[in-house]
Amino acid sequence: MQTIYLDNNATTRVDPAVFEAMAPFFTERYGNPSSAYEFGRQVAADIDRARRQTAALLGCEPDEIVFTSCGSESDNTAIRSALAAAPAKRHVIASRVEHPAVLKLCRHLAANEGYDVTLLGVDAKGRMDLEELRDALRGDTAVVSVMWANNETGNVHPIAEMAALAHERGAFFHTDAVQAVGKVPIDLSAVPVDMLALSGHKFHAPKGIGALFVRRGLPFRSLLIGGGQESGRRAGTENTAFIVGLGKACELAAAHMDEERTRVRELRDRLERGLLAAVPDTVVNGDPTSRLPGTSYLSFGSVSGGDILRELDRYGICASTGSACSAANPEPSHVLTAMDVPLRHAVGSVRFSLGRFNTAGEVDRVLAVLPGIIENLRVGHSGGIGHAINP
Ligand code: PLP
Repeated sequence: MQTIYLDNNATTRVDPAVFEAMAPFFTERYGNPSSAYEFGRQVAADIDRARRQTAALLGCEPDEIVFTSCGSESDNTAIRSALAAAPAKRHVIASRVEHPAVLKLCRHLAANEGYDVTLLGVDAKGRMDLEELRDALRGDTAVVSVMWANNETGNVHPIAEMAALAHERGAFFHTDAVQAVGKVPIDLSAVPVDMLALSGHKFHAPKGIGALFVRRGLPFRSLLIGGGQESGRRAGTENTAFIVGLGKACELAAAHMDEERTRVRELRDRLERGLLAAVPDTVVNGDPTSRLPGTSYLSFGSVSGGDILRELDRYGICASTGSACSAANPEPSHVLTAMDVPLRHAVGSVRFSLGRFNTAGEVDRVLAVLPGIIENLRVGHSGGIGHAINP
């Protein structure tokens, strides 16, 4: 059976061109980039190229890029670094819909390190309110961390405006752009964020490679203490093959951004329109006017998202649900909870996330099977245990 992979916000397939670019670094170009001979210096030059490719995608300077192991490391580094740079300030602002890489760190800072944390809310469409941020900012706010795009709804937030507000009150601004980079244009010469986290595996580089943008001149403290790699900003021998892969993925994303965004959005809209027309009592979660092109987060009334995933799985169709629950034991995701999505819809939520390798034929296959699956489940009212949403 052919796998139909509609879970690209969870992770993506490594692009064959990325894999090809990485291959020599395992067996031929395996020198240590810090070594004082040509065999090492060549690899250092390959890392420099990847840094330029990454910077080009983001509209920043190469020396503003620090390679890390993942998005979570980048987020943790950014927030910890901002706190270290402003030790007298004890207030942190994030949002209720952040990924655990930010949200759990904020909870940890409040519970164990004496920080005061304010979590901004969202409205029923998952949108943030600039006035709420303005009111939350204080003289002792060290850092504001708001994600560029949400991994469940796909909502794209007003990051430029939020960063400007944070700066008015002297706070640093970090954005978790793990779901946005490679999917929507980002120009850091125009958006005044101080730090930005990205992760390769969300846009066709491998899992286990990330980067952190740190604006030039910003005070910075490394999370890992050790060797002087990454200009002293991230200790540890460079993961050369993966860094090269990330650079290639950035180059591909930049080269194909416009056409890919349009194509993926059309596929997503075809799926969404078809399901809304064919399945009664279906709603779209998120902001229809400001969403990632490939994300469709749907709630089907009177059915469990976990049951839908299990049935889709029988056809080889991969998606995620926003509730780790059964009809009997509902526990919607923190994002749906923050949006106050009524329980009968939250329980039946499924996220489809489309990307580079999806086709219209795959969308049509889902349209052919899913309405029937839901109808059967509604008749049977089965309430099995659901799967948690893939991050
Ligand atoms: N932030 C967001 C919005 C994500 O979706 C993810 C995905 O897992 C992460 C952070 C963490 O990235 P990583 O898996 O590379 O640590």
